[in-house]
Amino acid sequence: MVDLGAQYNSIKKEIDGAISAVIKESAFIGGKHVQKLEEEIASYCGTKYAVALNSGTDALYLSLKALGIGKGDEVITSPFTFFATGEVISLAGAKPVFVDIDPATFNIDPELIEKKIMKKTKAIIPVHLFGLPADMDRIIKIAKKYKLYVIEDACQAIGAEYKGVKTGNLGDVGCFSFFPSKNLGAYGDGGIITTNDQELAVNIKTLRNHGSKIKYQNEVIGVNSRLDGLQAAILSVKLKYLDKWNKERRRVANTYNKLLKDTEWLETPFNHTSSRLRGASNETMKQFNNDFIPVFHQYTIRIKNGKRDQLKQYLNEKGVSSMIYYPIPLHLLKAMEYLKYNKGSFPTSEKASEEVLSLPIYPELDVKIINKIVKIIISYKK
Ligand SMILES: *Cc1c(COP(=O)(O)O)cnc(C)c1O
Repeated sequence: MVDLGAQYNSIKKEIDGAISAVIKESAFIGGKHVQKLEEEIASYCGTKYAVALNSGTDALYLSLKALGIGKGDEVITSPFTFFATGEVISLAGAKPVFVDIDPATFNIDPELIEKKIMKKTKAIIPVHLFGLPADMDRIIKIAKKYKLYVIEDACQAIGAEYKGVKTGNLGDVGCFSFFPSKNLGAYGDGGIITTNDQELAVNIKTLRNHGSKIKYQNEVIGVNSRLDGLQAAILSVKLKYLDKWNKERRRVANTYNKLLKDTEWLETPFNHTSSRLRGASNETMKQFNNDFIPVFHQYTIRIKNGKRDQLKQYLNEKGVSSMIYYPIPLHLLKAMEYLKYNKGSFPTSEKASEEVLSLPIYPELDVKIINKIVKIIISYKK
């Protein structure tokens, strides 16, 4: 699915240099490399502040904690995402309230949010799934109307833009993951939050370090969620290449789009016919494509003939890897049983989980290999 070795080889000298510098300085926890990365990420996203953390999961969790969200509160999010998005809401003591997705984008459907808002609702967590920004204007409009916080789960979308603004700078706080396979991946776990709210940044900084600003003067109950210096130094090197890599991902996606467009039993991203986009004019589609600059963390197609699992098996036999993100929507997972949702609660998410298939995508993926993969896909006879 990804080729992390190819990426390392292309910048080996710089990475090796950065690693030995950190070791020489013994700047292992916190320190200047972490601070430098925070400044670089804030500047990259266009926010005033960034606070580096242990993971994307902690970025989401500590955002909720710092915003004072917990017991008795409700938080709205999509059930079609990685488990962590919903998990952190429960972990913080609040109740996850799911809202179904737009079939065209796989992101939360703004149309359906308002009727789920209750007195207890405190925040919305839109997920920019697969690297495509959620429909933020409509989400933020609703959030403003009901005075809700917007926490972006941008873990898959670093560098993506919505109407000219980078993800992470669209809501009250943006959460990113540096998990190795993410678009900006560390060589271990890592994450970061971005925000323009100084108080929030300070609170998250305090929480990440056992609730203390000054050593041994613990003000609140926190956690240990510091990013280490080695990861920060590696990420600083890689950040310089992120735009180039994201552009290459879009090239790969466009190539797939072109080669797969006439295969009627599957749908490529952006050409889905949703209720909102069904029958949309070329002009509308053009506007849609201009508003959203995706970064293709995944290239995810829909298999519409009911043979998704068989196709996956077939590809596997032919040596092509593919993945199902995500096979079970959050509301049907055992850990979420206590919320008492049923099969049928979120039909669009459930349908997506039965139809999606993510194909290999990474910046170095050669057009010849894409051609081969597509030939094998098209050769599949039910
Ligand atoms: C990766 C991911 C996370 C969690 O990030 P970690 O760094 O692995 O903790 C959360 N949400 C989404 C959508 C993700 O893809």
